[in-house]
Amino acid sequence: MDKRELQQMLASLPAVDEMLRGLPAARWLSLHPRTLVVRAVREALQEFREKILAGTAPSTAMEGLDTAIEDRLQGLSKTRFRRVINATGIVLHTNLGRAPLPREVLEKVMEGAVAYSNLEFDLEQGRRGKRYDHITGILQEITGAEDGLVVNNNAAAVLLCLTALAAGREVVVSRGELIEIGGSFRIPDVMRAGGACLKEVGTTNKTHLRDYETALTEHTALILKVHPSNYRIVGFSQETAIEDLVKLGRERRIPVMYDLGSGSLLDLARYGIAGEPTVQDIVSRGADIVTFSGDKLLGGPQGGIIVGRKEFIGKIQGHPLTRAVRVDKMTLAALEAVLKLYRDEETARKTIPALTMLTTPLPTLKGRASRLARRIRSRVGKTADVAVRKDVSQAGGGSLPEKSLETAVVAVKPRSVSLQTLEMRLRTSDPPVVARISDDALLLDVRTLFSGDDALLAEALSRALGRAP
Ligand SMILES: *Cc1c(COP(=O)(O)O)cnc(C)c1O
Repeated sequence: MDKRELQQMLASLPAVDEMLRGLPAARWLSLHPRTLVVRAVREALQEFREKILAGTAPSTAMEGLDTAIEDRLQGLSKTRFRRVINATGIVLHTNLGRAPLPREVLEKVMEGAVAYSNLEFDLEQGRRGKRYDHITGILQEITGAEDGLVVNNNAAAVLLCLTALAAGREVVVSRGELIEIGGSFRIPDVMRAGGACLKEVGTTNKTHLRDYETALTEHTALILKVHPSNYRIVGFSQETAIEDLVKLGRERRIPVMYDLGSGSLLDLARYGIAGEPTVQDIVSRGADIVTFSGDKLLGGPQGGIIVGRKEFIGKIQGHPLTRAVRVDKMTLAALEAVLKLYRDEETARKTIPALTMLTTPLPTLKGRASRLARRIRSRVGKTADVAVRKDVSQAGGGSLPEKSLETAVVAVKPRSVSLQTLEMRLRTSDPPVVARISDDALLLDVRTLFSGDDALLAEALSRALGRAP
């Protein structure tokens, strides 16, 4: 194409105004805000201009322009934050929003969110109240602690406790508990950020009570115990029991804090998942401050819960940093509603999705996998081999790392596309499906599927397998 032809083609592209007066634009404007339409038209025209200059444009400048604008409009108006179908079997999948909230709590969240509320108003006294007061009663009731407080997440809870109780002084921690949780939350770094001085004791695999004992000085502000969460020291190892630390702390008048991480409120050992202490248990064994997440094993909204002795909770609540990490009303509403479900263990297990998923018995999972496999087979025909297999799910969220939860998965082996292509197509479908690839098949773990997901999943698979490779 010579220079003159190029100029002609560029000149034949309509102006933005002209496009907006056209017939298709009337339809776009009836569906989208004007600013969005203008942006889509402008961007599409620019793209076409660049294509013409690069010599990759279609023969006439206008060809495909309307479609390009419509695609852009669709992309721009799509909500970025969406629900996905979690077929990974990882219950508290940090990348997928951790704990799904029970439907029962949504009404409470909505009620307080779309109207005014008594968030910081004492209705009985007719004066200013504290937002934390709504949650203290139920926290005391469920955990047995004297007092409680909620902040944005457990990382903030730990930082706040260290800052409020130990800034400028020493915090004694076992070397086996100087962990990194992920998302760059590392105990030594949080300690530094909180202005506290880390005093490591013991060794990686063994820390004795006497190690703590000899480390205590007049500069010690806190004895900290940290749940190792996503890793375990096994073999020749020893940690010091919380009650021994509490006894030592009482003798030396030093508070003992336990960062529990997950913070289970239900004894999962009853469902065959042993090894995770409950918050109630740690409180009853005397820990002065206990911190845990709202959206890990508790199964509620994101939040950092601090429970413990009144004296310390009061001190923490009075610290200026508390204001900077305060929770919003929707979190408070959701958390109160979820905590109330714990008044009856069976209600909690049946209504809190994370707990239901973790405690679903294997025979139930097998039955669901068989039904899902049948449904998928009838949709995808000969485009894939579909079978039920045994596999293992994970709790996720840094909880119960060494517990493999036996599960049943549907294994899909596509016949005409690669596993990677199938996985990518599912991930980019609507709603997106996130699944796991094993050596030879795409695995769909039924543990983390909701009841309505099966039909959507079968549909997504048939689309993903049906398209030309
Ligand atoms: C997960 C975890 C945290 C961080 O909690 P978030 O709620 O994710 O901020 C802190 N400490 C421990 C031990 C954890 O397991």
